[in-house]
Amino acid sequence: MKRQVAVFILFACFSCIYIGGCRSVPYSGRSQMLFTSESQEEKLGKQAWQQILSKERIEKDPQYEASLLRVGKKLATAVNMPKYKWEFKVFDSNTPNAFCLPGGKVGVYRGLFKYVDNDAELATVVGHEIAHAVARHGGERMSQSILQGIGAEVISVATNDQLLQIAYGYGTNLLAILPYSRTHESEADYMGLLFMAKAGYDPHAALKFWEKFGKLSDISMVQEFLSTHPAGKNRIKDLKEHLPEAMKLYNKAPQKLGLGEVYSKKMQTKAGVGKTSFSTNYQNSKLGFGINRYPDWTYNEDYKGVTFIAPDGGAHILVQTAGVTDSTGRERTLQMITGTLQRNLAARASNASFQKGKPTDINGLNGMAFSGSFKMKNMQIQQYNAVLKDPRGKKFYIISYYGKPEFFKKNMKAAANMIASFRAR
Ligand SMILES: [Zn+2]
Repeated sequence: MKRQVAVFILFACFSCIYIGGCRSVPYSGRSQMLFTSESQEEKLGKQAWQQILSKERIEKDPQYEASLLRVGKKLATAVNMPKYKWEFKVFDSNTPNAFCLPGGKVGVYRGLFKYVDNDAELATVVGHEIAHAVARHGGERMSQSILQGIGAEVISVATNDQLLQIAYGYGTNLLAILPYSRTHESEADYMGLLFMAKAGYDPHAALKFWEKFGKLSDISMVQEFLSTHPAGKNRIKDLKEHLPEAMKLYNKAPQKLGLGEVYSKKMQTKAGVGKTSFSTNYQNSKLGFGINRYPDWTYNEDYKGVTFIAPDGGAHILVQTAGVTDSTGRERTLQMITGTLQRNLAARASNASFQKGKPTDINGLNGMAFSGSFKMKNMQIQQYNAVLKDPRGKKFYIISYYGKPEFFKKNMKAAANMIASFRAR
């Protein structure tokens, strides 16, 4: 073990000098170790971009792209990366997410517009994504995974080209699915704040956006975005600390835009409805709902309702219905159903702890959501529940996502996407 560590350290020094390089991240000054060159990363970015373009549908409503282009061009000028060949696309999906690939390929899923109120808030998210690219976090993740995953032995005999192949083999996946580390996240927050200020957007909007973002209980947004962009506890505190520095840049900006254009409620609402990009449409006429199911999630229909099962079998989404009146003819409310659900779970399990229900909205269905954990037969279970009211007021839908903590976490992103696509019919 000790020897491995020694080899690791030796190699790390060696690689800095001979293979890649150590460099300081612009703005933050943090030193990072990279095996990949900037042009290699840009090549990977370009290839990943081609793949994404061939898979995703471009959003047809021009108002979203117009907003992204307006904001993106300002940011691109502020960021000043002469080698980047900037492209900005909005994809037709209600998934709230965004990314920037090395080389300046920026993708925003239409669903993000549901949560940003104006150009300055869009600049907050897009600036954060661009910061990941400018800081070369992708290259750094690849370099780290080469060290951790493949090991020093392979690397010590590999040539520079072979290293690139290793990086490349991992590259496409890494860019798409590996979550950024918290260090990368706070660095992207900081740099993104400076970028938006330089571009002429009031940096106070970033505080407002991240604060609002932190409070949202909507699983479709929070879990989708947080699963690749984990937020630190100190996000707001850190941003406040950096605000004076950002304000200096804002005051020097060639054009002060404030919040920029403010988006209409109609534009925001429309952004959140419609198809997600992964869908295999599942319809249940008996229970009256539809969901976009990942093809590798199987399902069971039984007396309880419908259970969707993750490919590893370790996590389930159960969809059930409950009537608006109970057997005594008493009208049941959202709060009552949520409370009953919590009490039933607590009675059946031990060590149950649940958050208080928070208002949620899934595709226009209002409801309450809460998360919690409990023990059942000595097994720790983590659970997310949403209770939604049918728009015709005839019944409630109860959606429960649960599994052992490790499976819950592993399948959360897919589960969140599926739940976000839930609709009553
Ligand atoms: Zn991020």
